[in-house]
Amino acid sequence: MYVFTKEIDTEKTFIPEEEIWGLLEKTKNPDRKKVLEILDKSLNKNRLEPEEVATLLNVEDPELLEEIFHAARTLKERIYGNRIVLFAPLYIGNDCINDCVYCGFRTSNREVYRKTLTFEELRNEVKALVSKGHKRLIVVYGEHPRYSPEFIAETIRIIYETKVGNGEIRRVNVNAAPQTVEGYRIIKEAGIGTFQIFQETYHQPTYKKLHPRGPKSNYAWRLYGLDRAMLAGIDDVGIGALFGLFNWKFEVMGLIYHTIHLEERFGVGPHTISFPRIEPAVGSEISYNPPHKVSDEDFKKLVAIIRLAVPYTGMILTAREPADLRKEVLKMGVSQIDGGSSIGIGSYSQDDPEKVRKSQFILGDNRSLEEVIQDLLKEGYIPSFCTACYRMGRTGEHFMEFAIPGFVKRFCTPNALFTLREYLNDYASEETKKLGYELIQKELERVNNRDLVEKYLERIDSGERDVRF
Ligand code: SAM
Ligand code: SF4
Repeated sequence: MYVFTKEIDTEKTFIPEEEIWGLLEKTKNPDRKKVLEILDKSLNKNRLEPEEVATLLNVEDPELLEEIFHAARTLKERIYGNRIVLFAPLYIGNDCINDCVYCGFRTSNREVYRKTLTFEELRNEVKALVSKGHKRLIVVYGEHPRYSPEFIAETIRIIYETKVGNGEIRRVNVNAAPQTVEGYRIIKEAGIGTFQIFQETYHQPTYKKLHPRGPKSNYAWRLYGLDRAMLAGIDDVGIGALFGLFNWKFEVMGLIYHTIHLEERFGVGPHTISFPRIEPAVGSEISYNPPHKVSDEDFKKLVAIIRLAVPYTGMILTAREPADLRKEVLKMGVSQIDGGSSIGIGSYSQDDPEKVRKSQFILGDNRSLEEVIQDLLKEGYIPSFCTACYRMGRTGEHFMEFAIPGFVKRFCTPNALFTLREYLNDYASEETKKLGYELIQKELERVNNRDLVEKYLERIDSGERDVRF
């Protein structure tokens, strides 16, 4: 049994620093045959071992790199098809007692404008999001005693209760400070989807330097934060690292060891993996000049390698990245992106000249939800707002898509089409409608149970909502 207090022996966490360096050294200049064998293993739906991941991370040869990209694309297409799930981040409050040096919300930052939404303001934000067509949110909080589990649970309840016409939020994921087991239970009661915690950096000495004060300065408390979530019965957990703080290859290895730890302890790995890169944040010098800045090329490589390393997990790419790069990285196996994001607190419902001073960092992709949807449609993706598994009590949805043969064809694709049809009927412009209807028509030719899918689409056209398999 792990100990979750400050007394934890941080030397013995599941991140074996020396072993990681050893593997990254040992696997330098990998030979082609070995790399192709590893790609094959992944394409056969197996999670890779740390040594295999280190081998891929050490590939520099452009031809072999192309093989890695190709395999990542194949894996995505073969297993998950062409759906991309859409969500929006909703920042609830930026009070914070931590001092993460890269973050605009850190306690010692005097340039940021502090704000927590009142419940009335929260309702207005949700109404604004629902009116654009959103169905899935990730709610984000600083770390502060006022953001207690009870407060977090209350905000989530308010979100679910807030309806506009036909629309409502159907799944709320959470990105908040690590909680006690009891705290997670209270939050779970409100009906959450995934609980996300990013370790930021898995490298302990760097972690200590960048998190000088507050509860977050305890590396192990955070590292085992999702263990406690699992113990509280939250089955869907999301891990992540903030790229730019330390050597990116080390961080990818950290994500893999974290994955293996969850698999070994709970029999199920992370529901999602996130790989944010540091963005400029008001009042944070380091964010403008990250110590281990990751180039676009390395970023593409790391996304493809994470896809191959953990074939069953969902992968989230946020609007921190500019639109063009997002389009390219999408092909490497990303399953979820945000659209029409605004991260200034209160800025969905009000146009605020002080938005940047209420933001944690500055976004790279400022397209509206409708623009993102149009771009996805033009590239042949099915934009999806599906929450069917969550609403039918099927947790670990992403794992089922992976593990159950035919699940995507039978459930995911039709459900994606249903939510797209709802979006087109309720929120889209004529231009988007045309693109969307064409795509649905094309997809109908490929679904298994076309008659039934068509019947469900007709139900949507005659006004019924939230229909799903
Ligand atoms: N306060 C909680 C925490 O730190 O876990 C939850 C919310 S925090 C606002 C969400 C995530 O934003 C952090 O885990 C971090 O990875 C990311 N983040 C912080 N500063 C950032 C920056 N300058 N650019 C990009 N992402 C950043
Ligand atoms: Fe606070 Fe989270 Fe920002 Fe750290 S990353 S300063 S904990 S909001």
